[in-house]
Amino acid sequence: MSDKVVTRFAPSPTGYLHIGGARTALFNWLYAKHTGGTMLLRIEDTDRERSTEAATAAILDGLTWLGLSWDGEAVSQFARAPRHREVAEELVRLGKAYYSYETPAELEAMREAARAKGLPPRYNGQWRDRHPSEAPPGVKGAIRIKAPTEGETIVHDRVQGEVRFPNKDLDDFIILRSDGNPTYMHAVIVDDHDMGVTHIIRGDDHLTNAARQTVIYNAMGWAVPSMSHIPLIHGADGAKLSKRHGALGVEAYRAMGYLPEALLNYLARLGWSHGDDEVMSIKDMISWFDIGDVNKGAARFDFAKLEALNGVHMRQMDDKALFDIFVATLPYLEGGPALAARLDDKRKAQLLAAMPGLKERAKTLVELVDGAAFLFAERPLQLDEKAAGLLGSDARAILGGAHAALAAISGEWSAATAEAAIRDFAQAGGHKLGAVAQPLRAALTGRSTSPGVFDVLAVLGRAESLARIGDQID
Ligand code: GLU
Repeated sequence: MSDKVVTRFAPSPTGYLHIGGARTALFNWLYAKHTGGTMLLRIEDTDRERSTEAATAAILDGLTWLGLSWDGEAVSQFARAPRHREVAEELVRLGKAYYSYETPAELEAMREAARAKGLPPRYNGQWRDRHPSEAPPGVKGAIRIKAPTEGETIVHDRVQGEVRFPNKDLDDFIILRSDGNPTYMHAVIVDDHDMGVTHIIRGDDHLTNAARQTVIYNAMGWAVPSMSHIPLIHGADGAKLSKRHGALGVEAYRAMGYLPEALLNYLARLGWSHGDDEVMSIKDMISWFDIGDVNKGAARFDFAKLEALNGVHMRQMDDKALFDIFVATLPYLEGGPALAARLDDKRKAQLLAAMPGLKERAKTLVELVDGAAFLFAERPLQLDEKAAGLLGSDARAILGGAHAALAAISGEWSAATAEAAIRDFAQAGGHKLGAVAQPLRAALTGRSTSPGVFDVLAVLGRAESLARIGDQID
């Protein structure tokens, strides 16, 4: 047997890939990459009422956007129902499970009776030791596992430690319903076993399931995989994550302009750390991640921190790489589709040239859309309020002189030649540089903030720059 690590991400396709699910996928992926193993993907679509094709597509899309690639084809849990049935029937043959024949009303009465005695509403095991010949005729029956009644079931969890469950609290739960469909609890075990999963990494809301699932593993004589139940994500205020806190689908984060790498960096740090390192590349995370280092305590999601981290990743990124990801993400960004529609080759070149200045001022790609707006603006530019405030009559007079100075540049038009022309002009006229640069910025971009004004002049080019300045002095 090889020691190769096999993890899996097993989302239920009942909605988008939410942020907690993305982090679970990330931890499975990082652990697989770190150990040279593989990560499988299983779509847990056994619940036919709630599972949708659209949700499956959204999950695959979200994982793909984040770059959390899985190995092989995604497995449909529903498609494996015959195998789940086979194992349940085998457990009956092995004497580890049995058919029970209660109607829903009888089960309800049983639970009521237990409650009345102050006991947990559990199945009373009344078919456990009866001979199959006593079965009522013509009734199919549900298969229940024979759970141990004494002692404890211990889950050896790499995050939670040793978690003990008294067996008296486990009842003989159903593994195959009377309609022949497996329960979720059973399907997960059979799938994880058949898929060769060695490490289960999932949210700690599944911890009690782990005890029941251990019962099935033991009954089949299968080795229990390594278990890691990671704490759920809470809001910044410590309450359960809600939409307001950021419990959104990952596509919402794409629309808000976060880079996949920054989001992964942020998610990895929710519950896991590597010394004081806050900014990590994917490569760093892969080399440093170990599931045993994940904390037990709930992690808190903080938008401000995510945004700051995203800004750091943007500034660190190579201009062309950031340009490429920006262009690819434009259709999803607020205000992005309008820009995408006008992104011709000339503007692409301008955008790339402006990137060093733009990325200094943006924490998200949405802010980059806003920062880049001046490249796409049509003459005469609409000035925002602050820009209009910078263009009083004195400033317009200065702007007239600056226009002439720039128009006189005879050789190459560049940030350096523009800067030299403006500095000479300012000095000759006794103006402070800012008194020239600010009105220029307002005229060129319609804003009071922008990348450096000489870079703006260079990116816009001679004709467009002079025309925009001219529009404000005529
Ligand atoms: N399908 C389950 C969920 O989405 C995960 C089950 C598991 O990881 O074992 O919560």
